[in-house]
Amino acid sequence: MTETLFISDLHLDKERPDIQALFHRFLAGRAVQADALYILGDLFEYWIGDDDPAREHAQTLKAIKTLTTEGTSVYFVAGNRDFLVGQVFLEQSGCQLLDDYTVIDLYGRRILLMHGDTLCTDDVEYQQLRAMMRNPEWQAQFLAQPYADRLQQVLSLRKKSSEAIAAKGEIITDVNDQAVRDTMLEYGVHTLIHGHTHRPAVHKFLINEQEYTRYVLGDWYEQGSLLSCTPEGCELTVMDLG
Ligand code: MN
Repeated sequence: MTETLFISDLHLDKERPDIQALFHRFLAGRAVQADALYILGDLFEYWIGDDDPAREHAQTLKAIKTLTTEGTSVYFVAGNRDFLVGQVFLEQSGCQLLDDYTVIDLYGRRILLMHGDTLCTDDVEYQQLRAMMRNPEWQAQFLAQPYADRLQQVLSLRKKSSEAIAAKGEIITDVNDQAVRDTMLEYGVHTLIHGHTHRPAVHKFLINEQEYTRYVLGDWYEQGSLLSCTPEGCELTVMDLG
């Protein structure tokens, strides 16, 4: 079967073993038949360096690698939770790292892929934090600290961030429509696939009487979210925890 799969925002964490189990079933099942699997960020709740001692994560990397040896290419775009993935992660998972904002040719269509957080331009506070954390000097200084210290910082940051999101409301933390349109025109694509906002949907809209489509992948909390594309088109579906 000719099929390409897209997922994001699994937020894998040892506190949610049911989601990890669903992902492992997916890797050993449907994904084996696919041409390629694209993971568009936030695979992990947090990834704060390749020296992560979590055994669950080692199992996940191994399961992804098994999929790649069975013939499905796996591509990874980093999210805001796992942008610190490094060479060890790539070697152990067999994933090929793509830049945030990568255009692929999918069955003759140009498609732009990204995590999606950069489109949330109304959230100025978040964008400032993002700029700080994407600075190579900040990253080097962060990664030089012992694992336990890094974990402490991330857990405190996560707490602040969920409080801030709750206070900001729906519109600020969603994508900015003008940013979406500007980006799609800039990259010359009619199709965009992203995650991050946890608002799964297929948005169709017109610019200069031409149709544009934005697919938003959902998170993996109550269920799995999957976009399946074939030469005939794309379909957004859910996978039950079962
Ligand atoms: Mn995200």
